[in-house]
Amino acid sequence: MGVFLLAMKNLRVLLLATFAGLAGLAFFAARSDAKPETVTKIADGVWFREGGMDGHCNNVIIEMKDYLIVVDANFPSGARLAMEDAKRLSPKPVKYVFDTHHHGDHAYGNSVWTAAGATTLAYKGVTEEMKRHEPARWQDTAKTRKDVAELNQPSVEPPKQTFDKKSFVLSDDTRRVEFHFFGWAHTRGDGFVYLPKEQVLCTGDAVTNGPYNALMDANVANWPNVIAQAQKLKVAHVLPGHGEPGGPDVMAGEKLFMTELHKAVKSAVGQGKKLEDLVEMKDNRPVKTSVQLPDSVKHWVGNGLPTQVQITYEEISKGKPYGEISGGK
Ligand SMILES: [Zn+2]
Repeated sequence: MGVFLLAMKNLRVLLLATFAGLAGLAFFAARSDAKPETVTKIADGVWFREGGMDGHCNNVIIEMKDYLIVVDANFPSGARLAMEDAKRLSPKPVKYVFDTHHHGDHAYGNSVWTAAGATTLAYKGVTEEMKRHEPARWQDTAKTRKDVAELNQPSVEPPKQTFDKKSFVLSDDTRRVEFHFFGWAHTRGDGFVYLPKEQVLCTGDAVTNGPYNALMDANVANWPNVIAQAQKLKVAHVLPGHGEPGGPDVMAGEKLFMTELHKAVKSAVGQGKKLEDLVEMKDNRPVKTSVQLPDSVKHWVGNGLPTQVQITYEEISKGKPYGEISGGK
């Protein structure tokens, strides 16, 4: 019996590993266990809306005594879907929409929400990132996304309200909602939303549940330190910017992935390897890498790995965060 169970366990591990490998082939593709564009209740008055279609990020809808808070503005089309869901869940108005960071899939829907009466809110680093990267990215995105083009705006609408301390709180008789900045990981504006009573943490893209790590504005070396700060909170539910909801293990896994990625590339640099030894380019884009990460972080490894290796290599060899190399000071 023991041997049989062990064999079954090994088979399961093998199947899971195979599945993770296959899933890893698609960088942003939906997995079969994903529930794109559906709403799941996480706690009383706290709902997770999974994105995944049409480039949408995840949203979180939080019910306060008199109003709703939505985490992330999403792309304009995602904003409209999340708005419909919020109306279905509660008759209370959406008063605040929190941008976890400046990327289009999290912030380009800002004006859709403010037109409907909401106040967009973010850590000040989000506005600063927008000043660095916009309107170039908005105009570029408008070429391929109808929902962005149709807004007829010259650029993204920056958040209407920002906080410059490390945290900001909204609370009433029913709930306390904390907004935190723990440092530069995915972007220089990364905001977390924490519900202490419900032990819910919304992480934006500083923690994703799967192969969704985009590093173009990142500080790869500092990323694990930011997650370590978030791990000091008492957390039962991790609601990521992309991928499914999970528990604290999602934070630990994301932190380990960033740590292992940095470690592997640093050791290659230490051995005197050149970028072309690590990454194979095609049409000016990284398509293959010789860097292998341990099985423990397989869940976070996908088609994006060659690009992630290239970015990490440049960060280490130039001695400054990649976001400073790509996006200026
Ligand atoms: Zn992002």
